[in-house]
Amino acid sequence: MQLDAALALLAEWGEPSYRSAQVRQGVTRDLATSWDEVSTLSKSLRARLVEAVPFAELTMDDVQRSKDGTVKARFRTADDFPLETVLMRHGERRTVCVSSQSGCALACTFCATGAMGLGRNLTGGEIFEQLLWAAREARVDGARIGNVVLMGMGEPFHNYDEVLRFCRLANDAEGYGLAARSIAISTAGWVPGIDRLAAEPLQVKLAISLHGPDDEVRGALMPVNKRFDVAAVMAACRRYREATRRRIFIEYLLLDGVNDAPEHADRLARLLHETAPGGFHVNLIVYNPTAADYRASVPARIGTFRAILERRKIDHSLRQSRGRDIDAACGQLAVRGVRELRSRQRAAR
Ligand code: SAH
Repeated sequence: MQLDAALALLAEWGEPSYRSAQVRQGVTRDLATSWDEVSTLSKSLRARLVEAVPFAELTMDDVQRSKDGTVKARFRTADDFPLETVLMRHGERRTVCVSSQSGCALACTFCATGAMGLGRNLTGGEIFEQLLWAAREARVDGARIGNVVLMGMGEPFHNYDEVLRFCRLANDAEGYGLAARSIAISTAGWVPGIDRLAAEPLQVKLAISLHGPDDEVRGALMPVNKRFDVAAVMAACRRYREATRRRIFIEYLLLDGVNDAPEHADRLARLLHETAPGGFHVNLIVYNPTAADYRASVPARIGTFRAILERRKIDHSLRQSRGRDIDAACGQLAVRGVRELRSRQRAAR
């Protein structure tokens, strides 16, 4: 749903401004599922909108429900690219994890999405539609989406403009009205994106997947480290801090025997203190099984790692992944066949 495009059209057609208010209300508050359901509009205007702006660009293929309340939806774009969206509940709170791309080009060795390759970038409207789906799901039990994380499929900063367009759609005070600080963008450390976000008036949260305190460890896990190494990412963090004064979230996946030793914790603490004392919050993530050959760190190792961060006064928390039983947890989103689809489409062109 390209809501911004629909609103621009209404203006172009010379419709009075209360019409855009009605469209915003119908789409983002009443959560209509078609133009026809926006019943405050005149019949003729609805018909014009049906012609001009597709209400839904995603088709739902499948929904899975986890024992812990997590819901995962699989969608397809109009040109057939698959993507997944995850709705999580923590008590009364609802968080939706949206995809910014179908697949991903970065090929992190531990990530299922990385193994599927890149399909294509999603548009701001396609990302927004994932939020609207989650909002409808949440409404069933009287809840509202409190947080959006761009931590589904894809590297958001490979699709910067459309991701920011999505953030503005979600943030629009007369639309969905989600506070900017309730939106988090997670990047594998794509430095140009970090720099652009630093200059953005919209105060969304920034999370960076680090996963290793040095080039040796990180480089073995994330091929992107060849392009932007730990020093480059930390330099970008420093610039971001100077420009925004905002805290940066560091994601650190704990992999048994790979990056979870006490010296890794020490090095991580030193790195963060050297870059920006007090400037970071570390989110430790327990590895969720994928086809890759890693194991999750054992609880005792995690405990030691945390104790070191604690002692070195690094703010941190342990992220409890949700929806493992339906492959909805961090890093488990994957749909087969994207590469084939892309080459077929290229051949057709
Ligand atoms: N490309 C972005 C956002 C998508 S991934 C990024 O790299 O940040 C969201 C988070 O899940 C990232 O921190 C990613 O490294 C992590 N992740 C990937 N595979 C995982 C797995 N198997 N188990 C746990 N977390 C994983």
